[in-house]
Amino acid sequence: MSKKWSIAALVLYVVYAVGMYFYIFHGASGGVPATLKGTVADPQTFMTERELYLSDDYSKIRNFLFFVITPFEWLVYFLILFTGLSRVLENWADTRWKLLKNGAYVFLLYLFTTIIFYPIDIYRYTLSKEYGISTQDFSSWMRDYVIDFWINFGTTLLVVLVLYWLIQKSAKKWWLYAWLLTIPFAIFMMYLQPVVIDPLYNEFTPLKDKELEAKILSLADRADIPSDHVFEVDMSEKTNALNAYVTGIGDNSRIVLWDTTLNNLTDEEILFIMAHEMGHYVEKHIYIGIASYLLSILVGLWLISKIMPWMVSKFGRVLNIEKVSDIRSLPLFFVLVSFLLFVSNPISNAISRYQETRSDEYAMELTGDAEAAVSTFQNLAKAGLSEVNPPWLVKIFRYTHPPMLERINTIARYTDKNEVETETETETETDKETETETDKEIETE
Ligand SMILES: [Zn+2]
Repeated sequence: MSKKWSIAALVLYVVYAVGMYFYIFHGASGGVPATLKGTVADPQTFMTERELYLSDDYSKIRNFLFFVITPFEWLVYFLILFTGLSRVLENWADTRWKLLKNGAYVFLLYLFTTIIFYPIDIYRYTLSKEYGISTQDFSSWMRDYVIDFWINFGTTLLVVLVLYWLIQKSAKKWWLYAWLLTIPFAIFMMYLQPVVIDPLYNEFTPLKDKELEAKILSLADRADIPSDHVFEVDMSEKTNALNAYVTGIGDNSRIVLWDTTLNNLTDEEILFIMAHEMGHYVEKHIYIGIASYLLSILVGLWLISKIMPWMVSKFGRVLNIEKVSDIRSLPLFFVLVSFLLFVSNPISNAISRYQETRSDEYAMELTGDAEAAVSTFQNLAKAGLSEVNPPWLVKIFRYTHPPMLERINTIARYTDKNEVETETETETETDKETETETDKEIETE
């Protein structure tokens, strides 16, 4: 019986992967619409022949990996259940480490799946290196990989032990208690992230270029952002990609610029990026992020608390699970979490893209420098070999930022409007008008 299910799962996965292969490599491709050919949004105008070729190739492979790897994880977890391996691991943990059984089980499962997924991680690293994105040597990559392993294992262990303890205590309400515990835990982790976790991987320092720092600080001053919250990080040993981000909460909240960004862009472009990040900061996107994250955990835990007992009562024999509270049901828990995360991607990405557009507008508001905006986006696309207009499924599942074509459109729309309206109205009124009109447009998009 279990064998039949294993084969069915395998076949289903292969059919899905083949379908995805055709969609990504031979199906819908975004490309540049005819009306925009030859404009600043057309990669033909700012990428070399070789970059165009690489970006097309690289994007397709990465898109394909994105769509097949997560379902592959589900397949692996289901096979661990169908084949009875999960039960074997549990028995093993039980006979050797009785009292620490659950912890030992988590370690064995974690180690096993890490080994299974390791070749995929190596492949991703090699790919990124081959296409000239990653500049990290293998030993440094491996060092990060080991740090990742222990941090993720530690967090998983803590979460799983508490979770299964709660499930044992209260089969009905565990999801609510688990969620209540998540709130302080998540906030605490957010607070520690920039000062404890991130420095394990890279070195963070105040800006080294003092002239640029002065320009950034005067920009920060105009946006009412405390000046000691801007940092740079040494990413150039690891990647050629460009980036900047806002992280942390409370005293630890900060804007971080990758040194690749500082080294490769002009001051005007860096200031545009800073203004964009300040948009996130000023509009408190990180707090909105935490709130929606906590809300989605609540919904997710509740759904799992309904789905898991149902699956165990219906398919318990095939899954080799008798009770939800048995630690051997953990692979099923992982599948459900991963599945819910995967299918909620379009929602969280849509929210994120909306915030990114807001920040782009904020940056235009603050700098008014459309030229720097456009060349920044072009440089980001070049450095990351990213697609300027990806296929629809790719956009809704993968893009946390609007594709470059849309970002340039936002800038064009902004400048057009500003020009038209300054002719007829006074300056302060213009500002307000533009803001509300752009708002409406985004909402109806
Ligand atoms: Zn952003």
